Amino acid sequence: MKIMICGRCGGGEFVDRGEYRVCQYCNTQYQKTSEDVTKKASNIALENDITMLLRKCRDDPVNAHRYANLVLDIDPGNIEAINYLKRK
Ligand SMILES: [Zn+2]
Repeated sequence: MKIMICGRCGGGEFVDRGEYRVCQYCNTQYQKTSEDVTKKASNIALENDITMLLRKCRDDPVNAHRYANLVLDIDPGNIEAINYLKRK
């Protein structure tokens, strides 16, 4: 399990209580979502990649196809990228 620090008091000791981890010092409850948070963070990174690639599609229309294909590698349903591929 990941080491966790209480955001309210800085304490590092938690008790498991069902769905929550509870700080022993100040009783703040934290939902056990550390793995979800990690997943979300990597999704955000991917979204940034997509945004960046779509911007390149706009800035560099000659290579838009290539960038759009890269977007579709990451997000096969990305409508904006599909539109770039349809365009031509
Ligand atoms: Zn605390």
